Amino acid sequence: MDVPSSVNAQLRQLPSVDRLVDAAGLNTKLARWCLLEAARSALQGARANVLEGASAELDLDSLSRRTRRLAEELARPSPRQVVNATGVVLHTNLGRAPLATGAARAVADSAAGYSDLELDLESGGRGSRQQHVNHLLRILSGAEASLVVNNNAAALLLAVDTLAAGREVVLSRGEMVEIGGSFRIPEIMESSRAELREVGTTNRTHLRDYSAAIAERTGILLKVHRSNFRLEGFTAEVSLAELATLGGEHGIPLVEDRGSGTFVDLRTAGVPEREAWSGLREGADLVLFSGDKLLGGPQAGIVLGRGDLIGRMQSNPLARALRVDKMTLSALHWTLTALLDGRESEIPVVAMLLASRETLEARAERLAKAIQRVVPYPVSVERGSSPVGGGALPDVELPGVVVCVKPRGSAAGIARGLRAADPPVLARVQRDVILLDPRTLSDDDVALVASAFAPLADV
Ligand SMILES: *Cc1c(COP(=O)(O)O)cnc(C)c1O
Repeated sequence: MDVPSSVNAQLRQLPSVDRLVDAAGLNTKLARWCLLEAARSALQGARANVLEGASAELDLDSLSRRTRRLAEELARPSPRQVVNATGVVLHTNLGRAPLATGAARAVADSAAGYSDLELDLESGGRGSRQQHVNHLLRILSGAEASLVVNNNAAALLLAVDTLAAGREVVLSRGEMVEIGGSFRIPEIMESSRAELREVGTTNRTHLRDYSAAIAERTGILLKVHRSNFRLEGFTAEVSLAELATLGGEHGIPLVEDRGSGTFVDLRTAGVPEREAWSGLREGADLVLFSGDKLLGGPQAGIVLGRGDLIGRMQSNPLARALRVDKMTLSALHWTLTALLDGRESEIPVVAMLLASRETLEARAERLAKAIQRVVPYPVSVERGSSPVGGGALPDVELPGVVVCVKPRGSAAGIARGLRAADPPVLARVQRDVILLDPRTLSDDDVALVASAFAPLADV
């Protein structure tokens, strides 16, 4: 393709990378690698604009400003901290459970130094990394044994691979779930050496469906919590207790993938969840759940139940690939100890779920006043509710209050502006109204949210 000479002239006018780096880096502390990467990218963008005939600012000043902006982005810590004003307590895209301050400190300490992670200090011999939390999980749950791995998906993979390799996993068609970010039960089966044996129909599965499926090749019966959708209408499912009886008759282990497991009674807050280990009491041989959903700890997969089965899981070579790291163990140790101490209110997820109406109202009023000081459009406090979280409890909305901001222009535009703030603020948009939920905000966040609104007064 022939390039017109005017385009060539424009391209020749562009500064060299070195010249742009020097100009953009003047009087800044930006690292050279950030400036170099940013300058290359700015020049590439400018060149593309010229070739496409788009209007472009090609002077050194404009390019240098653009380079500096890109370099600043590269220099920022990542992932970035954001303010969660959505009210979604367990938001997968926002990193699910925020850790307690104490747990975060425990992580920092163990991360920065050496520890007895896999050392028995008394004998000087090798220890197990599981020993740091085993006893806490046993005291809290009464379970015979426990195992902690990298996340719940890993726990399920390990359970299925260990207990049903070369055999079948019996699962209701009503529980063939996909849980965000490519966690799909059928795919977990494909990654393991087990085969899926689907029973029942999407809406109804009966005990006789399970009975009919049991054969020589049956490895486990699996029950999966429907964490992110609701089954309504003409439905039937088999209880854990009934499955336990059936499994018991045939000597087949029953595994419950609980997904989200709480260690405190949240029913007063309207969260209809029994304790994580309740499935063991109903007869499950193993219960699996995440450390960073309702438990409010670090990302982890926790397995509770029969010692012999957990022992086999630990000896599976896959366990090494799925193992939990020292930072996670430190955070989990802190969180479980807080629960045993009765300091659950120090765990952010628990505190947010149990927040009283008075606390929420007071925070909402402060927030509404602070925002109203910087924007001319109507700001009010209304009744509302907070979704607990798509991947944890799909149908649970906690009653509370929300701050409603009704801009003159587009609410989506405001939401975009809030995301561009530093720190970015995430809000809910309902038609032409911005909703800010005090449940997931700290008292310190109030000022940050208000200052994010300040440049948006004219939107
Ligand atoms: C969330 C969830 C998982 C995945 O847990 P991760 O800790 O994200 O790996 C698995 N099963 C169920 C039922 C879940 O709700």
